[in-house]
Amino acid sequence: MTNVDIVAKITDAEWEIMRVVWAQKETTSKEVTNILNSKTEWKTTTVKTLLSRLVDKKMLGTKPLGNKFIYFPIVEERQSIDALSEDILTKICSRKVGTFVETILSESLLSFEDIEKIEKLLQEKRKTAVEKVPCNCTPGQCQCHLQKEL
Ligand SMILES: [Zn+2]
Repeated sequence: MTNVDIVAKITDAEWEIMRVVWAQKETTSKEVTNILNSKTEWKTTTVKTLLSRLVDKKMLGTKPLGNKFIYFPIVEERQSIDALSEDILTKICSRKVGTFVETILSESLLSFEDIEKIEKLLQEKRKTAVEKVPCNCTPGQCQCHLQKEL
């Protein structure tokens, strides 16, 4: 399985846990429970279950320390965010990606630095832009194939 497959199978609850482990770098089930206490009502047992699922999914590693276990990320945050984006891109028609990116941009609060980078990227993208993006869908999964030309 690729990282995209793995990350795509991470549940929302598991993402909550991953975010704590990424932020803490090394953590225990007790610490995760305490941190998520203000957001969820998960008991230590729930957190332990989620942690062990993430170990099974090879998102986290674990090692004993005294009488407890330390958890640490195997898959990095940046890699997971990239995998999430890739996963979304496999789920939508390539002709709708532009609109999707537009939605993300318009709903995001950005820093001047972010905008600078995006503007540079857009200038680069202009060099390889096409008149009409080809559809990558299985016929019948989007409207593109209903028109004669592709
Ligand atoms: Zn399509």
